[in-house]
Amino acid sequence: AKAKLRGSVSLYEPEMDRQIRDRRVLHQDLSAAIKNGELSLHYQPQANGCSRVGSEDFVGFEALARWFHPTRGFVPPSDFIPLAEESGLIVEMGEWILREACQEAASWSKPLQIAVNLSPAQFLNSDLVSAVHGILLETGLKPSRLELEITEGVLIEDFDRGLSLLRRLTGLGVRISMDDFGSGYSSLTYLQAFPFDKIKIDRAFVMNLGHNPQSAAIVRAVIGLGHGLGVSIVAEGVETQQQLDFLVAEGCDAVQGYFIGKPAPIEQYARLVGLSGPR
Ligand code: C2E
Ligand code: CA
Ligand code: CA
Ligand code: CA
Repeated sequence: AKAKLRGSVSLYEPEMDRQIRDRRVLHQDLSAAIKNGELSLHYQPQANGCSRVGSEDFVGFEALARWFHPTRGFVPPSDFIPLAEESGLIVEMGEWILREACQEAASWSKPLQIAVNLSPAQFLNSDLVSAVHGILLETGLKPSRLELEITEGVLIEDFDRGLSLLRRLTGLGVRISMDDFGSGYSSLTYLQAFPFDKIKIDRAFVMNLGHNPQSAAIVRAVIGLGHGLGVSIVAEGVETQQQLDFLVAEGCDAVQGYFIGKPAPIEQYARLVGLSGPR
């Protein structure tokens, strides 16, 4: 009815319908994606903070999920991860991602870190600890090489449960990173209460270094805060030499971003991780 009254809205309803139908189809496709081998992982390097980053400074990689749909082509994780979350598929998918990343890292001849993202639903609804434990045993990856990245949002839902989960995970010997720090409801309480090994400064602050004095102040303060708490600091989304210089001068421990290296299939970093021969 609204569409008739206001001409400018007339395109809106069919568009909504299309989006809903689209989502339903995409959702069906997503459940087939794992079985059909359409999911893969890209790897983005993290390096020690220094003004001229070379391959010798690479300390680890973050695994990032990719979905190549047979007809739509590339679907970005910002589209399919939320979809997988809503439907509960994320538990199965998340386990696949974790296993794949651990298997990959276990095959490297260099003992670099491997970071894997955990989504809120995965963190709160599955038997995560035993899954992580099982995958570590299965792949033989040394627990201290695995870093699990979580966003602070998941801890807000249920403080006690979050704390007990993180303690059990660190009990396995894995590392915990707080992802996207500063982007959500950051509370300093969380930094104090939860056993984080790393804080990843959100890309939004790094992006604005150089244009926005507030961002510089925030980045500087987060580095100081992290160090005061004995937590190491990683800056995300480093795209320029100027950003890198600022971060290094401020004592940022590690950096990640296009300036260091783009997410890519591991073959592109074969020499760096010590992969033997083509696969
Ligand atoms: P994130 O965990 O914050 O991952 C970093 C994102 O920033 C990645 O986007 C990466 O490609 C992008 N990025 C890295 N360096 C730069 C840079 O210098 N400039 C810019 N502009 N972007 C940069 P991507 O791969 O599209 O992933 C987006 C988000 O999707 C991730 O954000 C994460 O929240 C989620 N995601 C990706 N893979 C997984 C996964 O396996 N599991 C879960 N639960 N979430 C995932
Ligand atoms: Ca991440
Ligand atoms: Ca992030
Ligand atoms: Ca993010």
